[in-house]
Amino acid sequence: MTMALEAIIRRERIEDCLGHAPRAAIGGIINAALGAVVMWHAGHHGLIGLWLIVIVAIAALRVGLQVVRRRAAPGRRDDRVDARLIHGLSLLNGIAWGGGIALGGMVASPGEFLTLAALTGGMMGAAVLINGSMACAALFYMGPVAIGGLIAWSSNRLDSPLAGLVLAANYLLILVRGAFESEAQFIRRIETREDLRDSAQTVQLLLNEFEAQSSDWIWQLDPEARITSPSHRFAEAAGRAATTLEGCEFVALFDDSPARAELGDHLRRGRAFRDLSLPLTIGGAAHWWTLSAQPTPTGELRGVASDTTEQRRAEARVNHLANFDELTELANRAHFNHHLDRALGEQGERPTGIAILCLDLDRFKSINDSLGHPIGDRLLCAASRRLEEIVRGTDLVARLGGDEFAIMIADKAARRTADAVAGRIVEAMRNPFLIDGMQIMTGASVGIALAEQPDCDAAAMMKRADLALYRAKALGRGCFAHFEPEMESAARERRMLEIELRSALGAAELAFDYQPIVDLASNLTVGCEALLRWHHPARGLVMPNRFIPIAEETGLIVQIGEWGIREAGAMLAELPPHLRIAVNLSPVQLQSAGLVTTVLHTIATFGIEPHRLELEITENVFLQDNIVNSKILHRLRDIGVKIALDDFGTGYSSLNYLRSFPFDKIKIDRCFISELTEREESRNIVRSIIGLSQSLGMITTAEGVEHPGQLAWLKAEGCTEAQGFLFESQRVALQPRLRPAAGAPAGDATWQAGAGPAIARRIA
Ligand code: C2E
Ligand code: CA
Ligand code: CA
Repeated sequence: MTMALEAIIRRERIEDCLGHAPRAAIGGIINAALGAVVMWHAGHHGLIGLWLIVIVAIAALRVGLQVVRRRAAPGRRDDRVDARLIHGLSLLNGIAWGGGIALGGMVASPGEFLTLAALTGGMMGAAVLINGSMACAALFYMGPVAIGGLIAWSSNRLDSPLAGLVLAANYLLILVRGAFESEAQFIRRIETREDLRDSAQTVQLLLNEFEAQSSDWIWQLDPEARITSPSHRFAEAAGRAATTLEGCEFVALFDDSPARAELGDHLRRGRAFRDLSLPLTIGGAAHWWTLSAQPTPTGELRGVASDTTEQRRAEARVNHLANFDELTELANRAHFNHHLDRALGEQGERPTGIAILCLDLDRFKSINDSLGHPIGDRLLCAASRRLEEIVRGTDLVARLGGDEFAIMIADKAARRTADAVAGRIVEAMRNPFLIDGMQIMTGASVGIALAEQPDCDAAAMMKRADLALYRAKALGRGCFAHFEPEMESAARERRMLEIELRSALGAAELAFDYQPIVDLASNLTVGCEALLRWHHPARGLVMPNRFIPIAEETGLIVQIGEWGIREAGAMLAELPPHLRIAVNLSPVQLQSAGLVTTVLHTIATFGIEPHRLELEITENVFLQDNIVNSKILHRLRDIGVKIALDDFGTGYSSLNYLRSFPFDKIKIDRCFISELTEREESRNIVRSIIGLSQSLGMITTAEGVEHPGQLAWLKAEGCTEAQGFLFESQRVALQPRLRPAAGAPAGDATWQAGAGPAIARRIA
């Protein structure tokens, strides 16, 4: 036990003991008066009076001591001295009473003696009660009283003194024990209370420490769920003064919400709870607090709170990012799929009311490339807003990526609604967009899939809508198409073609068909265009329009293109030196790093004059990545290779490209030539193209010349060269040339020039 605790116990024992002094004084004086009455008839009145005075004086001293202590400033009185005084007064009181009883025993009759004995017993019992916190004080009193009792006993003539003595001794023992037990209990009570106080202080210290260390704060409620002793931190977080918070109903701090109802429930039941997030408004701003609480044994509730507003905002932001497209604010693919899945799930066995529209913007890539990504982004946003205006609030619009969008329509009449919406989209997207003062024309192609089969899952539906979109684009864009089961087989077919095309190169199934190009001034063949053919072992002859797009999509075109340049090089090596070969280049090829190397390598390997190799490109090349492509074209031209602009007149800003790169040749597209004899406009266009290229010092080649009339007109207008079915007699129908030599991989420089001189003669 610590010194401090000892001092506390000592003080409280004294105070407890003196606390009974007034009652003890009154009881003692009344009992003494009773005793005096009993003894009075036996005379000794002076002695009895003196005795009474002594008793009253001692009682007064005890009460006096209590009053003095109360009045004294805290800590001014020495508890040890007061304890000794109490013990002394008890002894004095005991001696006074013991003396009185001894005197009474000597003078009283046996009947009176019994009254005195009962009085004595009562006084001793009262002493134990009054001195419950100071057993020694009780003993000091009881000792002399017991001795006085013995004297009285022995001097009085009783019938059975022994039995009474045994009874009295027994009673005394019980009292002594009671006195010590009562004192021990009193001390234990103080010790427990002090222990509790200590731990409460420790807890408070820890809590203070916790508040100081973390951004959280402690709150405490009374059993009526009102705030008690709000900390500075709590008040600060709530944006109110601590004094206003004190006594406030805790739930009233929070905004109405299911979480608030839950909090109310916890508080009513005085239940512990954890991590309950609640919305509240502080100074007009929305906040979130997260609370945990634990009831205390006294029926209060103590808890921790933290402001989780930032965390909530971050969570909301992450959630938004995970589900919405940052640029357009539309739902993203994941969110769309999730909703579609759920909607399909709710449809049950035979879904009928869901339609998916997949759409993309026509020519978006070229707009993005030519006008820059910021404009492309704004076009996407503007298109998104138009889509949102077209659909109803219950439909879901998403951006799947790039210029791809999807719409989910949940409606009983899904097919009809989907058609109407698709029609409106096509119409709306046709209207020009005004961005940065620029009118931008685009358009939309839409593919529609309906949830008709019970096995329809989100992935299958998206695939179907995509296939329908593919069809809409094939139909010429700016329209919509529905999914049809045949599309799936067509897609499968495409996949098959793709797989077979991968092996076609190695299996030497690809070969060139050389179409002659005739000089119109001399009527002589000056070269030929290499047109790719796929001699498929099962499918027969497959035309480039069928497989080149697949090769471009899969990137296989790079490998095929490298092979083509080598093949043309090998052919050139066998042809007379005045003949040239034109090879078609795909835009994808121009972006591959190896193109220049392949050309250089081919020229070196076959020892050919570079100008005999002509590369035909279309305007699409410039739509991809203007700067990179134009750099590569310049490098090719620096090597000495000729560059021709193919399909001239079919693109939409041709003149600009003519300015940006010095082409050697312009090839007038077949569509103008075929209409030469019928349409005045076509004649005018061709005439101006010829004039344009003459003034730019370029050669003009008319493509698709089929009739002598067309040829005569072109000659008269001064067109330089022509090619087409009209010159079929000069056509070189090359058999598939089996290069590379069987087994050698494409790109292997060891391949040899094979058959061909006979054909070369025919071209010449
Ligand atoms: P293109 O470069 O415009 O080729 C001319 C196309 O017109 C060829 O079709 C040719 O067969 C066809 N043609 C030629 N004269 C006439 C005519 O008098 N009347 C008609 N109606 N058509 C005529 P083809 O061979 O089917 O090639 C189609 C397209 O495939 C080519 O158009 C070219 O863009 C591409 N292509 C062909 N070979 C290759 C190649 O090796 N590489 C790349 N990247 N593309 C190629
Ligand atoms: Ca061509
Ligand atoms: Ca062409």
